[in-house]
Amino acid sequence: MEYACIMKIGVLCIGDELLKGAVINTNLAYMGQKLLELGIIPELSLEVPDRPEEVVRGLDYVMSRADFIITSGGLGPTADDLTKPSIAEHLGYPLELCEEAAEAIKARWMNLKRGTLPFHFLNQAYVPKGCEVLMNGFGTAPGIYIATKEHDRFPGRKIVMLPGPPSELHPMFDNQVLPIIIRNMDVKIYSKLFHVSGVPESKVEEAMQPVIESTPELSVAYCAAPEFVKLFLSSHCEESVKSASVKVREVFADSLLSDDSRTVAEEVVHLLGRGGHKLAMAESCTGGLISSLITDVPGASGVYLGSVISYANEVKAGTLGVKEETLRQYGAVSGQCAAEMLNGVCEKLGSDCGISVTGVAGPSGGTLEKPVGLVYIGVRYLERIQIIENHFRGSREQIRARTAAVALNTLRRFILGLR
Ligand code: ATP
Repeated sequence: MEYACIMKIGVLCIGDELLKGAVINTNLAYMGQKLLELGIIPELSLEVPDRPEEVVRGLDYVMSRADFIITSGGLGPTADDLTKPSIAEHLGYPLELCEEAAEAIKARWMNLKRGTLPFHFLNQAYVPKGCEVLMNGFGTAPGIYIATKEHDRFPGRKIVMLPGPPSELHPMFDNQVLPIIIRNMDVKIYSKLFHVSGVPESKVEEAMQPVIESTPELSVAYCAAPEFVKLFLSSHCEESVKSASVKVREVFADSLLSDDSRTVAEEVVHLLGRGGHKLAMAESCTGGLISSLITDVPGASGVYLGSVISYANEVKAGTLGVKEETLRQYGAVSGQCAAEMLNGVCEKLGSDCGISVTGVAGPSGGTLEKPVGLVYIGVRYLERIQIIENHFRGSREQIRARTAAVALNTLRRFILGLR
């Protein structure tokens, strides 16, 4: 993977619960994805417990590998929130009261109508002297930005401390930290993100080789998800990104989502809305996953009628009208059943578009004839119907995710009139 190396960013995530596995480190995933859009991949990330000596030891290690350090967690009012005093002391910065932060904490507490503000809550308003305070619009603990000075114990370091709750970290990272990072970049970076749907990552990489070879000073990064491959172009040369973007559009053509869509479900909802269509689904082995992806999209109610989660054969037959004969002769996991589920749900709910899914997601339940990973997907767009037999590999979760990806991408291609 190639990327533009502008500054070395290190992440330090603080919290016992991360190490216990009680909380998944989604803050790192969030920041990593946002940084990748700038063409930056962090040098390293470290998770440490709430103990001050571990926070400081972790910070030293991250500082030995990176010059811009982002910490998450441990800024709150509770006894185990020791990130700020530990790091401030280690860097040689005394804490002082930030009046603006104190007022914000008091105002927020008043709004909650929970009586008198607990005294220790104001600890959160003490900040390292001379730092930039990053006000927190979604919680009480402000964030901190310190750019160490020449004569400091650790000169030339940039350190950002953010609260742990994702609902606070995400907006602070987007609105306050990214601008600081951009401000600190030596060179301006131009970037462009594409979503390539229905093409495996290895094929995307292969197809990109000629583009990379023919475009000077271009950095390319790939990030594969079940529904698409994210393809990032970045360069300090604007022309390189522009000309590579033209080539990417030629190479991947119909496999690219439109620039406004961030998921295939979003694209499908927009396309259905534009054409005035209605969608219904019959899901068996995906158990509502595809419906959930569709309803994640704001505005889905304009196009989505509903789904029948037809897990049991009784529901396939009784509610969707799958023939007993079909179930007996071909089985529930069959193209015939997928077709009858599809027509049944569209008729029942009165839709002109539909998706049906029936398969063996595993890990048990597979046979020689119908192994784990065999999934039939039915897609209908007006009078056009397609039943696809798939042999997916992976865990139950991966098989279900891949099924959803193929189903939505097939419907997207149908609506666009593509094969
Ligand atoms: P506060 O104590 O005010 O809630 P804080 O900055 O002290 O904020 P922590 O106490 O470290 O943050 O974490 C608060 C909660 O935020 C945790 O219980 C956890 O649910 C979530 N959290 C913390 N770190 C992460 C992380 N890296 N990824 C996802 N969630 C996290």
